[in-house]
Amino acid sequence: MKKLTILAACMTTFGCNQIDNAPTKDNKNAIWPAIKSQVVKDQVIENKVQALISTMTLEQKIAQMIQPEIRDITVDDMRKYGFGSYLNGGGAFPSGNKYSTPREWVNYAQLMYEASIDDSLDGSNIPTMWGTDAVHGHNNVIGATLFPHNIGLGAANNPALIKEIATATATEVMATGIDWVFAPTVAAVRDDRWGRTYEGYSEDPDIIKAYASAIVEGLQGKPGVDFMDDSHVISTVKHFIGDGGTNNGIDQGNNTADEQELFDIHAQGYVGGLTAGAQSVMASFNRWQGDKLHGSKYLMTDVLKDKMGFDGFVVGDWNGHGQVAGCSNDSCPAAINAGLDIFMAPTHTWKALYENTIKQVKQGDITHARIDDAVRRILRVKFRAGLFDKPSPANRKYAGKTQYIGHEKHRTIAKKAVRASLVLLKNNHQTLPLNPAQRVLVIGDGADNIGKQSGGWTISWQGTNNTNDDFPSGTSIYDGIAKWVKSAGGQVELSEDGSYQQQPDVVIAVYGEQPYAEGQGDVTNLAYNSNDPGELSRLHSFNEQNIPVVSVFISGRPMWVNAYLNASDAFVAAWLPGSEGSSVADVLFKGDKREDFTGKLSFSWPATPDQIVNRHDDNYAPLFPYGYGLTYRDDITINTLPEHHVSLTNMPAAQAIFDGKLVAPWKLSLINEHQHQQVTSSSVTLHNLSYRTIDKVVQEDAFKVTHVGGTRAGVLFSNLDNGYGLSGDNGAIELSVRREAKLDDSVMLALNCDDIAQCPHAVSLASKVNKIPVNEWGRVQFHLSCFNRLKASHGKLTSLSVLSSSPMSLHISGIQLVKQKKINTACDANFD
Ligand code: BGC
Ligand code: BGC
Repeated sequence: MKKLTILAACMTTFGCNQIDNAPTKDNKNAIWPAIKSQVVKDQVIENKVQALISTMTLEQKIAQMIQPEIRDITVDDMRKYGFGSYLNGGGAFPSGNKYSTPREWVNYAQLMYEASIDDSLDGSNIPTMWGTDAVHGHNNVIGATLFPHNIGLGAANNPALIKEIATATATEVMATGIDWVFAPTVAAVRDDRWGRTYEGYSEDPDIIKAYASAIVEGLQGKPGVDFMDDSHVISTVKHFIGDGGTNNGIDQGNNTADEQELFDIHAQGYVGGLTAGAQSVMASFNRWQGDKLHGSKYLMTDVLKDKMGFDGFVVGDWNGHGQVAGCSNDSCPAAINAGLDIFMAPTHTWKALYENTIKQVKQGDITHARIDDAVRRILRVKFRAGLFDKPSPANRKYAGKTQYIGHEKHRTIAKKAVRASLVLLKNNHQTLPLNPAQRVLVIGDGADNIGKQSGGWTISWQGTNNTNDDFPSGTSIYDGIAKWVKSAGGQVELSEDGSYQQQPDVVIAVYGEQPYAEGQGDVTNLAYNSNDPGELSRLHSFNEQNIPVVSVFISGRPMWVNAYLNASDAFVAAWLPGSEGSSVADVLFKGDKREDFTGKLSFSWPATPDQIVNRHDDNYAPLFPYGYGLTYRDDITINTLPEHHVSLTNMPAAQAIFDGKLVAPWKLSLINEHQHQQVTSSSVTLHNLSYRTIDKVVQEDAFKVTHVGGTRAGVLFSNLDNGYGLSGDNGAIELSVRREAKLDDSVMLALNCDDIAQCPHAVSLASKVNKIPVNEWGRVQFHLSCFNRLKASHGKLTSLSVLSSSPMSLHISGIQLVKQKKINTACDANFD
């Protein structure tokens, strides 16, 4: 990676005069401009804010600064404490029901609102506000229009389109009674190994800056015109700052850019967004030069508020304050002192945080002036957003109006965005556009899979566990192809595995990355490794038969796909198009209203798996440069590319089943003697057993399984088609666990157990796990030879379960098959 060039700095409006001046202590924040927000201070509002603050108790003020999450509070908590705001995280729904209707969302908003203005317990009648991650449309809500993820929008390079998308999103959000959206992400993504690459528009600040103002205007409305009216919501520019520039692309890692680069590359989205009047900024999880942003007074207060003049509020990110040195999730005066105005406090720890913060103010660890400043910012935004005047959520203009969720007009915008986001990387012999009146075979696991094409942050946080039925009115890529071909009189066949009834004239292969979000999407190199071992050889077999292959590649980042490029006559980078997959076909086929490709790479495409490359780098040599993208007018041949590359950073072949996340293609279910329920969300209950994700180091990297006792039940990991090969001589199962109390002897670990009443291959977990102190994480291993007859009866591990008939509460963060030569401990109570 390289340093910033003068050119990049000069492209920004403010950077040029300081380029060569390394900042000294005194002129330090001279790099940062004073920004003129389109939302100007209104003295009438300021007076109202002041009047209100002067009536508030310390408790009421701190409540304004705490933002709990809907899975960890009740309406009664809201009544009792009067929180200034609350959120639903990714994959969190009213009543925990993924299929909640818009009416149910509004009802929840209404209850929370009423509880917030009910002053009977806390003496406060300040309306609360609800924040949500509508990051590619209102993505937690079934039926909402899902737009392409930001990476695809960057390829469209069209700020006017972005504004339309934001406006449509705001309307859908308003239809559920929600006031505030945690978007846009304005990260400049410098290392595409980062799991959040697709949340960024580009690696380069140009597009980001223009988009940030367009989206903020679309979400909030335009000051003086339609700002925060009935169809607009508060927006959040995030994650402040430098999230896209961490070393090695590690999520929540360290950004070591110098300050000039921090401004020139990573701050341009804030320049754009704050100018357009964004009312909130979210602090980032990452560090800058070693210090966590949530604790950086310099960046949050000196730079953002004092120098850039931001007068809205800074909200934290998901217990991000707990990562500041000396802090925990339930105590962090340092973050408030550094300038954080709202703690995002999603776990049950909000309560202790609230109490500790009150105590810390009383003790003088935090000044009253700082608290008043934070509360002033929060109330200012509430007044500006009209929350004191608007009717309650259920009585607002769009409230509960189902027709706005996934409205045809919004889908039309999304379809336009899908077409505009596609980038044509290769089109040898002008294979595209295709004649639809022929025999078309559509293959690949992305062809008819709306969940896969939508990526992370889609109904669930990780975007996993969705089926096409979860997208009413959505379309798959195959749907669009079928429509084109059928209406032209051609024949279309869909076959995920590539087998066919009738020899095709052309093959369209749709494949790519499986959905992921945040750190769970971090990778060590950019090589595309398919989950499907036959994927590439299938393309080769069509090559051998001289049947042209068109690849439509679904991914959250540019990837090293040389072998796939070679095996394809035409290759389209489709990114993560969202719910309107059918529009991909509009660009692939010849028709009367023929669409051409207009998308251009807003990310450089790597020439090797290890190449980390960005526009304006010295010795810039990507495979396809920033701005690249063919059209039908181009007649360019891409020659055969090198396919062999020894990656320096190849991942070890891990035999993990769960390592902070479920390892594909393992499945996780809850089972009892009669029922079986696949785990498809962050909390699931099956009779006397419940499952819930928990945070060990980062969000949802572990889970907790609780059995209240009764009949035998537990969690089952299964991978029936593949499994892991076993050799009883040198393998062991290792679990990373934590217990809440002593485990009963009946808690067992069973392998390949088809009938849970029987389970011949099982050991007791109790004696080993009970050696780990209560509430501490530890590891236990069981040699495979402990599982009697396992090797003789099965050559493969295809399922693993933790079962109990007595009460148990066990936390698990890892399960893997590890090499272990010797049996170093006893097997413990064998069940056989
Ligand atoms: C939560 C999601 C949330 C995410 C934020 C997860 O633990 O379940 O709802 O959006 O963390 O990173
Ligand atoms: C993410 C944010 C998101 C928040 C709430 C965090 O983990 O980093 O982008 O807004 O969760 O879901």
